Parts: sequence; C-alpha cells; structure tokens
Amino acid sequence: MTKHVVIIGGGVIGLSVAAECVARGHRVTVIEADPVKRGASLGNAGMVVPSHFVPLAAPGMVALGLKWMWNPESPFYIEPRADWGLVTWALRFMASATREHVERSGPLLRDLHLASRARYAQLAAEEDFGLVRKGLLMLCRTGHALEEEAATARQAQALGVPADVLDPAALAALDPTITMAVEGGVHYPQDCHLDPSRFVAALERRLRAAGADLRWSTEVTGWRRSGGRLAAAVTRDGEVAGDEFVLCGGAWSEAVGRGLGLRLPMQAGRGYSVTVADPVQQPALCSILTEARVAVTPMGETLRFGGTMEITARDSPPRPRRVAGILKAVPEYFPAFRGVDLGGLPFWSGLRPCSPDGLPYLGRTRAAGNLVVATAHAMMGLSLAPATGEIVARLVDGEPPGFDLRLLDPDRWA
Ligand SMILES: Cc1cc2nc3c(=O)[nH]c(=O)nc-3n(C[C@H](O)[C@H](O)[C@H](O)COP(=O)(O)OP(=O)(O)OC[C@H]3O[C@@H](n4cnc5c(N)ncnc54)[C@H](O)[C@@H]3O)c2cc1C
Repeated sequence: MTKHVVIIGGGVIGLSVAAECVARGHRVTVIEADPVKRGASLGNAGMVVPSHFVPLAAPGMVALGLKWMWNPESPFYIEPRADWGLVTWALRFMASATREHVERSGPLLRDLHLASRARYAQLAAEEDFGLVRKGLLMLCRTGHALEEEAATARQAQALGVPADVLDPAALAALDPTITMAVEGGVHYPQDCHLDPSRFVAALERRLRAAGADLRWSTEVTGWRRSGGRLAAAVTRDGEVAGDEFVLCGGAWSEAVGRGLGLRLPMQAGRGYSVTVADPVQQPALCSILTEARVAVTPMGETLRFGGTMEITARDSPPRPRRVAGILKAVPEYFPAFRGVDLGGLPFWSGLRPCSPDGLPYLGRTRAAGNLVVATAHAMMGLSLAPATGEIVARLVDGEPPGFDLRLLDPDRWA
C-alpha cells in the first residue's frame, strides 16, 4: 500500500531513508530547516567502516576525555557548561563505557556496516559518487598505539572482520603513493571511502527524479496529534500531513522530539575538516592517524583531513584552535607535508548527533504509533546511512527490520 512518508531532516540519514521509501513506491516529503548545509553530512571524512564496531562509549574514553580536557588542540573534549542535560548525558556515557557494552554492540554494528557497504556497492553501480574499495589504514607512530590497534584487530578478526597488522615496509608496498613515518598500522580491507557531497547530491537527484517533495529552508516547529498517532508536522509555512513520520534531525533530534514526549538524550559532537585542493602527495587509501585521531581521505584530486570530537552546545561558535590541532598532526605521519602551510585553508564543521551509549536511536517509539526514529549515528552516520534507510523502509511497510534492534530502541532512556 502506498503511504505518504514525511521525513524530518535532509542529511545523509534522512535522504537515505527517503531514497529507500521512494524505491518501494511510497510518496515522500523531506523537510529540511537549512537551505544548503545539510548538518554534518557534507564535509565529513566519507568513510564506510565495518572496522568501527566499537561505539564511542568504550573503556578508556572517559580517561582520555579527562586527560585532554584542558588542551585546546586535543581531539576529544567536553565543554564544561551548566547544563543538566550534559550532566546526565555524561553520567550515562560513563556508565555505558564498559567492555560488556562493547561486546554486546560489536556484532550488531558490524552487521549494519556490512549491510551498508553492500548497498553502497549497488548504488555505486548505478551512479558514481567516488566510492573507493581499497580499505582503511589505522596508522600508528608509537609502539604503544600499534599494540592497542593490533588488539583491536584481533577483536575484529574474532568478529569475522578481516584485519591485517602491517609493518612499515608492508604499508609502503600497499600504498606507495605516500611517504609514511610510522611504526606500523592495521589494514581493514573491507572499509571504503567516498565523497559525501557527491553521495548526498546523487541521493537528491534520485529523489527529484522519483518526484519526491524536497522542502529546504523549512523548519519543523511542532506536531499535530490525532489520538496515539501523528497527523502532521507543523512548520511556519503550514502543516505537512502524512501517514508515517521519520525523525532524522541529527544533533537537533532531541529538541524536535521533545514536543512529542520523546526522550532522546543527545549531545552535539562537533568535528572539523579541511580539504586540500592540490596535496603534495595523494594517498590511494584512506587512513586514521591513530594517536591524533585524525581521518585522512582522498576525494578525487583533493585530500581531506578531519577530526575532533568536541561535545559542545549546538550554538557555540567553532574553535579554530582545534583545526590547528588536526593539521599539526599531518606532517608527523606524512613527512612530505612538512613545511607545507595548511593553516590558511577554510575549514568546515559539523555536529555529530551523539547518544550517551554511542549507539543510534533506530526504530519505532511509544511516543506515536506512526513515528520512526533514525538518528544519533555519531561518528558512523555516513557509513550506516544506507542500512538505516533500508531498515526504516521495512518498518514503514510493517515488515521485520532484518536486524535485532533492541540495543537501538529509541525509548531506552525514557
Ligand atoms: C569531521 C567529521 C568527520 C566525520 N567522518 C565520518 C566518516 O568518515 N564516516 C561516517 O560514517 N560518519 C562520519 N561522520 C559522522 C557523520 O557525518 C554523521 O553521523 C552524519 O552526517 C549524521 O547524519 P544525519 O542525517 O543524522 O544528521 P545531519 O547531517 O546533521 O542532518 C540532520 C538535518 O536535520 C535538519 N533539521 C534539524 N532540525 C530540523 C527541524 N526542526 N526541521 C527540519 N530540519 C531539521 C538539520 O538542518 C540537518 O540538516 C563525521 C562527522 C564529522 C563532523
């Protein structure tokens, strides 16, 4: 049966949900507050990562956050502020950051990333958005970091995710296009990268061609209910009625859902990226500079450096010192960049939607019978977007989602 599906948020999650819904013959309206920016979805590092089966809330993260608290160039930072939402989020984060939580979440995250990877491959066969399937390198400058990464690689192998620990010679043979000053690294051959702007543009073209109603510069300010269901999303330009509603509002989702009685504890995790048009060397593979927590992604002729997880108020201004921290790390791993001035380049910043346990909110909710929540993908939203789209489309059609979604229940903190 054809339904009218109203999607709030036009980032990569909202558009992926929309694409899967139109593919199933539904009528789709996407409501997006911003005219152009698409939240966190355009300037990110573009990595599709079955290797990322460890959620943000993991052992060691609390200690790292405290250690880096006072360093303005550090990659992980919680901005202290008098905000009860932040206090309860931080307490829940600390309680979630356990080995058991990581062990419980790993198989599900692996399966979701792999499902996304498979869908990305299908979509890339239909339209080019720069998908490169050569894997990801976790590069380590120190023996200590390499030991930690090798331990994670063993966990990956136990989960069936291929991972190879490599010495500098093997790394150089794998990617001879860039000089590396590292102790070693781990290669995750199943990981991929793509250009997120090109992917979002491809989704938009697909949706327009299918006749979807894409309403930019339109903010959802409230809801109209009818019994236990939603009748319409309210905007300043009037109401948008629908049969099914999907909340994909990124870091704004908690605020948008509050009017419905939804409890989606969330903090914004700001990250930054800088894209270099003519890099002195261009790697063939994407990588993460492990100790610095910097992501490096070749995108066509350009090279993008991204990083920082700054838990902050959504309206606080970006902090250029953090961008300096990202760029400072580059020549330490890639010495060809020594003496190259990356400092004057414009930077992009985006807000990752972060739940306290580092897992998305995905599924139906008690708040309204015809509402699906799909948000809080934190550092993995691009990677998990196609699988999220498929799951939501199945839920809209009343089918089993294909995954055990209990860990992702949007009502788990309610
Ligand atoms: C530096 C950086 C690097 C990253 N690298 C990667 C990576 O390599 N791989 C990966 O998987 N992920 C990565 N991420 C994370 C990824 O970018 C996010 O998880 C993803 O973009 C979230 O998508 P979204 O659609 O949920 O949110 P968003 O992209 O933020 O979209 C939400 C949209 O909802 C809209 N909205 C909000 N409120 C309303 C309202 N009331 N009415 C209408 N519209 C509304 C907003 O305007 C926004 O456009 C990175 C993030 C950053 C910052």
